[in-house]
Amino acid sequence: MQQDDPNITLITETAPIATQTHGGRAKCLQRLVRLNLPVPRTVALSFASVHDIAEGRMPNLAQLLAPFGAHPLLCVRPSSEDPDWGGPSAVLNLGINDTVHAALSAKLGEEAATRLYNRFVRTYAVHVERLDPDMFSDLPDHGPDALAESLRAYREETEEDFPQDPRVQITAVLKSMARAWRGTTARLLRQAKGAPADAGLGLVVQEMALGLGRHGECGSGVIQRVSSGTGKPRFTGRYLSQSQGREALQRGKQSLYLARDARGESLQDLAPEAFDKLVEYTELMRFRLREEMQAEFTIEDGQLHILDALRVSRTSRAAVRIAVALAEDGVIPREEAICRVDPRALSEMLHRQIDPEAKRDVIGKGIAASPGAATGKIVFSAAAAQASAARGEACVLVRRETGPEDIRGMHASVGVVTERGGITSHAAVIGRGLGLPCVVGVTGLQFDMKNQFIKARDGRVFRGGDLITIDGSDGDILAGETPLHEAAQDDAFQSMLSWAEEFCDIGIRANADTPADALVARKFNAQGIGLCRTEHMFFDPGRLTVMREMIFADAPADRRTAIDRLLPMQRADFIELFRIMQGQPVCIRLFDPPLHEFLPSDRAGLRELAEALSLPLSDVTRRVESLSEYNPMLGMRGVRLGITIPEIYDMQARAIFEATIAASRDGAPVVPEIMIPLVSAKREVELVKMRVDAVAAAVRTETGRDFTYRLGVMVETPRAALRAGEIAPFAAFLSFGTNDLTQMTYGLSRDDAGKFMSEYVKQGVYPEDPFHTLDTEGVGELLMIGAQRGRAARPDLTLSICGEHGGNAESIAFCRAAGFDYVSCSPFRVPVARLAAAQLNI
Ligand code: PEP
Ligand code: MG
Repeated sequence: MQQDDPNITLITETAPIATQTHGGRAKCLQRLVRLNLPVPRTVALSFASVHDIAEGRMPNLAQLLAPFGAHPLLCVRPSSEDPDWGGPSAVLNLGINDTVHAALSAKLGEEAATRLYNRFVRTYAVHVERLDPDMFSDLPDHGPDALAESLRAYREETEEDFPQDPRVQITAVLKSMARAWRGTTARLLRQAKGAPADAGLGLVVQEMALGLGRHGECGSGVIQRVSSGTGKPRFTGRYLSQSQGREALQRGKQSLYLARDARGESLQDLAPEAFDKLVEYTELMRFRLREEMQAEFTIEDGQLHILDALRVSRTSRAAVRIAVALAEDGVIPREEAICRVDPRALSEMLHRQIDPEAKRDVIGKGIAASPGAATGKIVFSAAAAQASAARGEACVLVRRETGPEDIRGMHASVGVVTERGGITSHAAVIGRGLGLPCVVGVTGLQFDMKNQFIKARDGRVFRGGDLITIDGSDGDILAGETPLHEAAQDDAFQSMLSWAEEFCDIGIRANADTPADALVARKFNAQGIGLCRTEHMFFDPGRLTVMREMIFADAPADRRTAIDRLLPMQRADFIELFRIMQGQPVCIRLFDPPLHEFLPSDRAGLRELAEALSLPLSDVTRRVESLSEYNPMLGMRGVRLGITIPEIYDMQARAIFEATIAASRDGAPVVPEIMIPLVSAKREVELVKMRVDAVAAAVRTETGRDFTYRLGVMVETPRAALRAGEIAPFAAFLSFGTNDLTQMTYGLSRDDAGKFMSEYVKQGVYPEDPFHTLDTEGVGELLMIGAQRGRAARPDLTLSICGEHGGNAESIAFCRAAGFDYVSCSPFRVPVARLAAAQLNI
């Protein structure tokens, strides 16, 4: 006697079925059986069995078919470990042949029986025999001749009669499904969704509940308790009388709503008892499977059958609401709700998104530099953007790249596109700070700034005033207007955020330069400002002129005059920031960029500047040229400016201390943090510290008021990381500026890498864009060295990261493991960072 095959298992309450050996569908069906739901008899084939089938070793068919009795009609479905990994399509009505057809004709009527047979013949021909689906396209779908025609076409193509033996049918179906799983496309698709290379497939063989018949209501449908779009409670799904499988969804117009609905007929009206049972069953599934499930069901002669259940598909917004509701109803603990939401989902909720159902007419692709979507008319200059905003017309600013003179235009736009740049370029950083969708480093579009148009590869030309939509969440640029979903910082979002706060064990601060940024930071409960890039405070048009006067000053006295005018402006900025942050730490970085960034680059701008400064154009041009550098990012910037033109840092220190006194007078006491950028040598810190301490002493003497402050160093050159041991004694904190540190460690321009980054990632040179996800091996080693050497020299040293990586989940994990005190990221990324950090602590 042949032994029982352990890889064939009838699904019962106690059968040994596991997701890892039989797949998620088989396991879920077992759970439904345990809930006593009316699930048709089902047999599960394990991964091992399907592997054998693909290799040509068939399982014991007698054992497989035994539970189903004589002449059963069966359905075979895939059961992979994770339902998202897909699998071959289900095959219905297996087992039908001329004899069964005759019996079914007597029972269901000839037409219904013929429909079932015809459907199986065609499915078998296409999916099992791999015949061309077009061979049926000219044949009738139903009617008396449809079946005969299909059988004839089958015979002609295969030179064999359609197999009548159910064993032959099932052998062929199982083989074809097992082999389809091994196909290259299927493998690539599931690997893209995270499946391992050796992911297994199980199969479930289930007795058909027909959904067709003459005695009482018959039909099929799907049901779920919540909307996939919003996650709000609402019975959704469709039902169709005299149908099978997912026909109710495919033939939407003819199908019925589930719950009573003013728009049309419903199952609740048609078969109230079945509907009530579905309500009861889906509720039970929610509580016992601890998830919102979509159930596939059939009604046969008035009797309800539950064939299958799948996790409800969901948008980010729905994912958050579903997780929160499950926790609030006590179905899952809060910790689990927190872990069920992908942190990126929160980011999507903070911004408008393109409707996932919308058609996308993509004309270009770039780096998704700042999330969210926006539609607007194209403008090619900051001035045009402002004019457009004044007319109340939404516009998208299109530039080769952006600089300080574009800030006003960015404020006036709903989105920004730049031909050049990467994830840390000017447009990207400012865009994220403003919560403005932004795509940089675009390929597929030709930018003609002179003639003011962009041209798609298909030849379409878009000029100023033409509508485009940009998707900063995935880097697409689309022609015309595209339907958008509004941002959704609803009650569920707020609950998720406050729960994450409870479990988060690393500080989350925000990079904020302006009062508007600081307000966003507070709204998301950031624990202070981790980086205030002071140069962004000089981009305002009024200030830009004073800044330029300072840059152009030849004599120290002239420079002094300009700096004296900048002082009250900076002081006012800091007072406002301190007040908004209400005693939370505010880390102010002293002036960092090369001075020429504040100067115009084109002729018109030079002429304007000459006018404003009452200088000959030739003088202005010469000065601008003298400031230009071959490698500005490695040139006269950061602390190097502080050493060579110390008046700028002196002024900033004074503004910070005076603001500290003013803000502490009527608010919570402020302890400002002052950070020195681009340090590479201990002596730089020593020199700056001496001057800053001297300014503090002077302000104390002048005002008769005392205050404290913390001076720290930004570690963004490899040398600063390596020499952290000798720098730390002069610094209360080290904050790793991983944008520059990445740039300098790789020797890779952060503004130019976008051009070839996708090619590099595609060819596997880098696993990911290192400006986006921290390179834990190289840059990460420098972080570890800096942290260890710094802490060894000064155990109370505060450690943090303030590059763009501060908002990235993997990078946060690294910083947390390395014992950092906090991470700092764009204000809009604070919720994402907090959720990611909370998940690490659960
Ligand atoms: C950095 O370099 O990581 C940083 C935060 O500074 P910035 O981006 O302003 O150069
Ligand atoms: Mg930097």
